[in-house]
Amino acid sequence: MISITAFTNEKEVYSVTGEEQIGTIRLMDQEEVENVINEAKEAQPYWYSIDLYKRAEFLHEWADQLLENQEKIAATISKEVGKGITSANKEVVRTVDLIRYIAEEGCRMHGELMKGDSFKGGSTSKIAMIDQEPLGVILAISPFNYPVNLAASKIAPALISGNAVVFKPASQGTLSGLLMIEALLETGIPPEIVQTVTGKGSEIGDFLVTHPKIDMITFTGSSATGQAISLKSKMIPLVLELGGKDPAIVLKDADLDLAAKQIVSGAFSYSGQRCTAIKRVFVHDEVADDLVKVIKENIDQLSIGLPEEDATITPLIDTKAANFVEELIDDAIRKGATPIVGNKREGNLLHPTLLDNVTSDMRIAWEEPFGPVLPILRLNSEEEMIEYTNDSEYGLQASIFTKDVQKAILLGSKLNVGSVQLNAKTERGPDHFPFIGTKKSGLGAQGVRRSIESMTRDKVFVLNL
Ligand code: NAP
Repeated sequence: MISITAFTNEKEVYSVTGEEQIGTIRLMDQEEVENVINEAKEAQPYWYSIDLYKRAEFLHEWADQLLENQEKIAATISKEVGKGITSANKEVVRTVDLIRYIAEEGCRMHGELMKGDSFKGGSTSKIAMIDQEPLGVILAISPFNYPVNLAASKIAPALISGNAVVFKPASQGTLSGLLMIEALLETGIPPEIVQTVTGKGSEIGDFLVTHPKIDMITFTGSSATGQAISLKSKMIPLVLELGGKDPAIVLKDADLDLAAKQIVSGAFSYSGQRCTAIKRVFVHDEVADDLVKVIKENIDQLSIGLPEEDATITPLIDTKAANFVEELIDDAIRKGATPIVGNKREGNLLHPTLLDNVTSDMRIAWEEPFGPVLPILRLNSEEEMIEYTNDSEYGLQASIFTKDVQKAILLGSKLNVGSVQLNAKTERGPDHFPFIGTKKSGLGAQGVRRSIESMTRDKVFVLNL
């Protein structure tokens, strides 16, 4: 059992199955939060004064430490957020690769030089040297589902560019996050530079996001929380990665076996608790029967069980989440959707559910379930598929399945989403690609270079020769 400190104001953390207490976390009060923000603010200029290649060395050492502690961290992720152990291990390794890439990318960002005579009326005697300076203290708030990877994807770019970090992990995910920070502190990095705030977002969130010494917020989580943060934070840059309702668009000429395989993997990995999970299928009427048949065959092969059994479908993060998914399924069936497979619940373990004949009056056509349910909407034309995609309040990604690449590009260009995947499931990686959400799916961009840029500002020195 991981015990972080013996403070009285603490909360017990249980495994997702609720059977095992796996640790305790401190619920920090405002005074403690105030202190850590002040420490970070004070220490940041020193951190920025350290040579860039040395900051990169700390990050590489952090990656080494994560690998050394991989088994322990993966086991904690698996228990704490209910992820199969194979996926939990992959999360650690992916994070190691990401941190190394960020360290290297940061070392290759050299600013810009602009010559004055390229603007009418300018002159060769004016030259602008444009440097990238850190913003100061970055508040990094992460969600439960990738407690290590989505935290490091914020912390590492902040550090390489010379910022200090205040890190607020998700309550269910804090133990994994703290192990990751422990590995970082093992490198000998000044501890004031990376501060962790533990506690409930609903209690300390407002204090954090409105604090005058926070210079930028990078947040991943639900659209509701992201919107609330955007309304409260004042005059500071924000990067928000929020919810999604990614469609898989299957055209008449698609390779249905490939589409079904990708759709099932995209929809059901980690029980659908991924922002980029495929959350609805738009299929052309003519091929719908065939597609539903192969999707069902693929779903039948998914393993259902506990994280320690390394199952793909595991209990959802909590009872509230499971109730919500069940509510969406019940609503759809009541309104006439056909359950093809699943629709069975054991505690918070929901069996993978495929709903056919879903129509636009059903909540599941529009709302993000964050669980293992996939609605099929049978549509007649590409125009309708575009309309259904763009009518969503979300705009993270979309997949298009067709053998006609030109058609896919034309169709994709009409979709109001951050990324379009051709003949593959929606997903985040490779992690250096820009990652963007439109509408309620986000603000700004992540991806290694984009993340570093979001945490720095241009500083212009004009040489007047
Ligand atoms: P969440 O409930 O919004 O929580 C996210 C983080 O915000 C947690 O650390 C939470 O702390 C904190 N928080 C809660 N209330 C806050 C407040 N008032 N002020 C500041 N922080 C606050 O989201 P989640 O359930 O962890 O994650 C699932 C959602 O994240 C889904 O909608 C999913 O689509 C989205 N997501 C998006 C991406 C993406 O890249 N677009 C990636 C992964 C997940 P507590 O845990 O203490 O409440």
